[in-house]
Amino acid sequence: MENKEFVLMKKYEIGRMLGKGTFAKVYYARNINTAQTVAIKMIDKEKVLKIGLMDQIKREISVMRLMNHPNIVDLYEVMATKNKIYFVMECMKGGELFNKVAKGKLKEDVARKFFQQLITAVEFCHSRGVYHRDLKLENLLLDENGNLKVSDFGFSTLIDSKRQDLLLHTTCGTPAYVAPEVISRKGYDGAKADIWSCGVILYVLLAGYLPFRDANLMVMYRKIGKAEFKCPHWFPPEVRRLLSKILDPNPTRRISIEKIMDHPWFQKAFDGKQKEIVTEKEEDITHIDVNNSLIANNNNVQEEEKKDEMKIRNMNAFDIISLSNGFDLSGLFVDADHRNQARFTSWHPATAIISKLEEVANFLGFKVQKKNGIVKVEGSKEGRKGFVSIDTEIFELTPSFHLVEMKKTNGDALEYQKLWKENIRPALKDIVWAWQGEEGDLQQLKS
Ligand code: ADP
Ligand code: MG
Repeated sequence: MENKEFVLMKKYEIGRMLGKGTFAKVYYARNINTAQTVAIKMIDKEKVLKIGLMDQIKREISVMRLMNHPNIVDLYEVMATKNKIYFVMECMKGGELFNKVAKGKLKEDVARKFFQQLITAVEFCHSRGVYHRDLKLENLLLDENGNLKVSDFGFSTLIDSKRQDLLLHTTCGTPAYVAPEVISRKGYDGAKADIWSCGVILYVLLAGYLPFRDANLMVMYRKIGKAEFKCPHWFPPEVRRLLSKILDPNPTRRISIEKIMDHPWFQKAFDGKQKEIVTEKEEDITHIDVNNSLIANNNNVQEEEKKDEMKIRNMNAFDIISLSNGFDLSGLFVDADHRNQARFTSWHPATAIISKLEEVANFLGFKVQKKNGIVKVEGSKEGRKGFVSIDTEIFELTPSFHLVEMKKTNGDALEYQKLWKENIRPALKDIVWAWQGEEGDLQQLKS
């Protein structure tokens, strides 16, 4: 990837590296057709698969598409080759907010502007049932006008407890922004945890250093647990009052986003209305662009490409999920085995999905077991290769929208497929919103 002349998918000229994350490198790039500059996040598929984060990547894609807001980094397109996944994003020419603060604390008005932009983005996410869960300075980027945008939705929809642990371990280097209830692993409210992190960020902006510091990790955890922090003398009284409400170790007492937005310190020079108008305008422009390009174009191949582009632009999370199955075909997901595995999305609550599975199992005379977030359904009659067994895992995409994955974990493939076709699939009909990755939408995506 060090090759400077690299052109990706005959479409993007890759330039210098903008940054490095845990699993990804981000490069500056230019769309050859439109001259638009973008940032391309390249994720090494193999690394991600090794750690079992592929589902997370898929959810990151769907979440990023849902989040269309002036203070959230926009995702334009997702591409994949055999070895890599590419996220084509809005290029944040101002770099990380971290670098600004590393040079010294910010003036009150500047800090307030960034905090307002951060809270506006977070409020937007929360209103859509999405929690970031990894808010910290390093994930706040600046555009060329110095406006803040939140990036890195990598962990945002991660509710699965197994992976939550993984998250804590992998981010142990930076627990500084993590809320006390997250550390104590009691199970927590994503909204409240995000609010805590915003408080830490506000402190850092104004102080130039973290509120909870200690070389010893255990001591640091204890400080976080008791919200033990001191404001430097230059913090204005209003900020101190606001911070003490945000950095409240008790999540039920902690201030809500709405109350933060009503706070006099926040309200000063706050222009929430304008933001909404900007969003509408941006949407209009995209619309016009799409139409124009269709009229202007008479080259067939290019037109096809433009259509594809339009599809992606107007895509919502649900389309993206089905698109990610298109990637299955291109060999992105090595575990993709359509014969022994199925995926569907559902608007029903997890409890309803589980009771439906139980109902189907009962009807078939199968055993049901719930363990570690997996529903295991197992046959009672031994077949050619033992008992047929199916594992189901439910992922929350938003509180009311779920992705359900069912996999054969034991038994004969033919017995399973017969069972699947004749009994299980039809029985699930009531709770399925869309089947993912079946022949129809795969064909469509192959072209
Ligand atoms: P990871 O999820 O692996 O942590 P990030 O998404 O945080 O990766 O990206 C790593 C770094 O790349 C960021 O900290 C930032 O410096 C840079 N970067 C990420 N996205 C953009 C972007 N849209 N524009 C400019 N730089 C970016
Ligand atoms: Mg990051």
